[in-house]
Amino acid sequence: MTESKHDADQPAGRENRARRDHGERSGHDTYGEHAGHDERLGFSSLAIHAGQEPDPLTGAVVPPIYQVSTYKQDGVGGLRGGYEYSRSANPTRTALEECLAAIEGGTRGLAFASGLAAEDCLLRTVVAPGDHVVIPNDAYGGTYRLFSKVYERWGVQWTAVDLGDLDAVRAAVQPGRTRAVWVETPSNPLLGVSDIAALAGIAREAGALLVVDNTFATPYLQQPLALGADVVVHSTTKYIGGHSDVVGGALVVADAGLGERLAFHQNSLGAVAGPFDAWLTLRGIKTLAVRMDRHCQNAAAVAEMLAAHPKVSEVRYPGLPGHQGHEIAVKQMRAFGGMVSFRHADGEEAAVEMCGRTRLFTLGESLGGVESLIEHPGRMTHMSAAGSPLEVPADLVRLSVGIEDRADLLADLARALG
Ligand SMILES: *Cc1c(COP(=O)(O)O)cnc(C)c1O
Repeated sequence: MTESKHDADQPAGRENRARRDHGERSGHDTYGEHAGHDERLGFSSLAIHAGQEPDPLTGAVVPPIYQVSTYKQDGVGGLRGGYEYSRSANPTRTALEECLAAIEGGTRGLAFASGLAAEDCLLRTVVAPGDHVVIPNDAYGGTYRLFSKVYERWGVQWTAVDLGDLDAVRAAVQPGRTRAVWVETPSNPLLGVSDIAALAGIAREAGALLVVDNTFATPYLQQPLALGADVVVHSTTKYIGGHSDVVGGALVVADAGLGERLAFHQNSLGAVAGPFDAWLTLRGIKTLAVRMDRHCQNAAAVAEMLAAHPKVSEVRYPGLPGHQGHEIAVKQMRAFGGMVSFRHADGEEAAVEMCGRTRLFTLGESLGGVESLIEHPGRMTHMSAAGSPLEVPADLVRLSVGIEDRADLLADLARALG
């Protein structure tokens, strides 16, 4: 960590914030001192303002896209606001990172080129050859592939367990060797719900970090750091961006020391979010709460309709009282999210055919955008898990319920089910 003091020790956003805190800015800002995490501001106020005080030069109310790689220095080492090179830090990215930290209730946010780039940075920071990680037996396919096809070759071992079974988790952790317990709740694509606070206790006892992939819930519906998690992971590609127009990822932590180590690796590895991607993601965050409210309402209506449909053998939605983790979801989530999975009563071929018959639900991978999507996990997003402990049922269909008119969505599904 000694080769460049700027790389490790002077994250620009930090220095920038420190300068602001010492009053080096014009006195007009209402939100600047709240930019980090002011408990007086609610979620939507932070989402719209944290890290995004009006531009000091022009008053522009939205942070500019700083499409720039390098910065003039006022004499050697005389950095303005701590910015020297845009891999290390860029003002548009700093705004996004401060906003992410604020809405997750953390002290440090870091933005990456994709969700998997964020995961890779986290793992390279906290695991080494010989270490062990506990992962969910229904993890996102790409996360599973990262462990099973990439990190395994580097000598990192993993155990896949059902995180709903706390005894199984206790049995899987190896104190002194397990560095992280990786949680996804609700999980992709089976919508499994696990108890973050209970898992945090198990991880802490074993000396492991509790990592929560909060992509499905978003910080609006669930705050893992407040429940005891050490690291929150996001694919900002999904609900946080929210408009299917940008790929990105994020890490948020509460512990400043861990934040520093992650920032060092973010800069050393280099898979950062570019300025325009950071700007699009920030724009998405401003409407996160209102979008999620509508996603949740529409998804609940879809889940109820499917549960009563003769062509559906099982519906997976944490909001349904019969769901495996419903009680935990009530305890740790504000509402139950926009994702619904179900099994087609007529089997795999019928499930695949139905995916091609909807009109408003677009057949496609990804999720979390304003438009509704439908997919067949077994042959699409989760193909890489085939033949593994994470294989998904062949008759499973996954819906990302968008924010279109509810009646139109219900009619589309009813028609496609026949
Ligand atoms: C999409 C997704 C990821 C990976 O993110 P990318 O942005 O596609 O790299 C990780 N976790 C979950 C739950 C996801 O849905």
